[in-house]
Amino acid sequence: MKILVIGSGGREHALVWKLAQSRHATRIWCAPGNAGIAGERLPANGEPVTCPAVGAEDLPGLLALAREQRPDLVVVGPDNPLAMGVVDLFQDHGVRAWGPTRQAAQFEASKVFAQEFMERHGIPAPKASVFTEFAPASRFAAGLGGRCAVKVDGLALGKGVMVCRDMAQADAALEQMLVKGAFGAAGTRVVIQELLEGTEVSLHALCDGKVAKLFPTSQDHKRVLDGDQGPNTGGMGTCSPTPFLTDTHLATAYRDILEPWLKGCAAEGIDFRGLLYPGLMLTQDGPRVLEFNARFGDPETQVYVPRLENDLVELLEASVEGRLGPIQLEWSSMASVCVVMASGGYPGSYAKGKVITGLADAERLPNVKVFHAGTARVGDGIVTNGGRVLGVTAWAPDLRRARDAAYAAVACIRFEGAHYRRDIAAKALKAK
Ligand code: AMP
Repeated sequence: MKILVIGSGGREHALVWKLAQSRHATRIWCAPGNAGIAGERLPANGEPVTCPAVGAEDLPGLLALAREQRPDLVVVGPDNPLAMGVVDLFQDHGVRAWGPTRQAAQFEASKVFAQEFMERHGIPAPKASVFTEFAPASRFAAGLGGRCAVKVDGLALGKGVMVCRDMAQADAALEQMLVKGAFGAAGTRVVIQELLEGTEVSLHALCDGKVAKLFPTSQDHKRVLDGDQGPNTGGMGTCSPTPFLTDTHLATAYRDILEPWLKGCAAEGIDFRGLLYPGLMLTQDGPRVLEFNARFGDPETQVYVPRLENDLVELLEASVEGRLGPIQLEWSSMASVCVVMASGGYPGSYAKGKVITGLADAERLPNVKVFHAGTARVGDGIVTNGGRVLGVTAWAPDLRRARDAAYAAVACIRFEGAHYRRDIAAKALKAK
């Protein structure tokens, strides 16, 4: 089977690595991919993975590529092309594509849609209201004592949420969004949610339009510095499993969140085939959904794929074809840890083109895989090409050993300005 993967990050490298191990895969392209993805081969036939220079949001270019190469399955990684309707486009042209359609991707692409859907279907969510004007929005925020999360409706590269603890912050956020129009069309409507306290966790569920199959637990580390300090990032590391979400929590989350979500989708004619990834706050009153994503998490995918024992091609085909019902997701008892190595300055501005050394030494360690995110090949070398550069991942019979193995691999790798958190999985280990 020939497979075209869309995207260029660590998530896509993890997906490609796992898809390449499938007994069905004969050829893989990843557009546009990165240096690590371009270095992969299919173990069964030795075929190299190719990375055509077509951007993930270049829909006409992707369609032309699919017409030329005739993949049997397209796998979409990132949120933007999903929100742009890339899956609809492929389907309209008879190409089988995995991922939610534009309508189904609204769970992520519109915070207003997601919030109102949750309210219509009794899914536990923060109290919230939707606004287009500053004055009523500010009054609503004042009613919450200024303690609120102000969110622009549309996709904003992960920067469209401002967590506010007083009225000065809330008004400043609302002014940016509704008065200055800093987020353009994505920010003409905002959702204001009450600020919730608790532990933040996320779920992953593979869906086929009728059923949702929950993954085991994982935990992201969003802040750039140790001890959850500093600004938010796309994610500085992950571990799976995490003790903060127990099996009881998972069962409750399934009953209270996924069941009403599936019923709501059926009632509204939303056929969600793809990966649903809700972000939750575990509050004293139970779990609350802060947001929905409609794709695999990055860097959650990097810790899931080493533990997944099913053939990923078979799972994604079953998801596209509505056949997931009888399929059991199988996970190894191994724990896994991913440490993200980032460019100096990230999540602010950073330089590119720094030479990376030690990758081969890191990958010679047992049960280690270095997933590339922002990398490029220049001549014989590999250089940095993004904010998050590498997701150094290891797996072992327990979390402590997985953590130690991931950091041993990190210690092999060098590039100018590299920084990473030293406490990935530390809280999970302490809680255990
Ligand atoms: P979102 O993209 O909606 O998940 O928001 C990004 C981050 O903002 C989340 O990961 C939380 O850390 C924080 N956040 C969002 N909504 C809330 C809320 N209602 N209460 C507390 N924190 C929130």
